[in-house]
Amino acid sequence: MAKHPSLAAVVQRLEDRGLRVTAPRLSVLAAAAAGAEDQFSAEDIESRLPQVGRATIFRTLKLLVEMDVFCRVLLDDGNLRYRWSRRGHHHHLICDSCGAIEDFTGCDVTTLMQDLARRTGFTARGHWLEVYGRCAACHSRAAVSQ
Ligand SMILES: [Zn+2]
Ligand SMILES: [Zn+2]
Ligand SMILES: [Zn+2]
Repeated sequence: MAKHPSLAAVVQRLEDRGLRVTAPRLSVLAAAAAGAEDQFSAEDIESRLPQVGRATIFRTLKLLVEMDVFCRVLLDDGNLRYRWSRRGHHHHLICDSCGAIEDFTGCDVTTLMQDLARRTGFTARGHWLEVYGRCAACHSRAAVSQ
């Protein structure tokens, strides 16, 4: 299975949703698709697009995250990576041992948000959650080697 969707499929999906695929958006999408991996850093995109300014790249990455084409992952070492997003709202399970990243959905924070709003008066716009630990494969490998 390909690690990321084809560029044509992504462009089609955006156009179907009535979103404009402008020249900078297309170059950033193509630069992301040029990598073999599912994830990449903003610096990877910058190095593949020397002719595009840094501010434009960052603004475009942010927009593409809002359009749900990419999602962001905060690695345990503090590095931020982008990934091709495969679903709507989701979070990541990040394995400390092998670095595997898996998506999960179904976070239920509604009660927490209501409670926060009541206690602090803060109206939440969104939330960010990453879960760090050991994936099932690494867990069973560790159990076997003990
Ligand atoms: Zn994701
Ligand atoms: Zn693992
Ligand atoms: Zn969530």
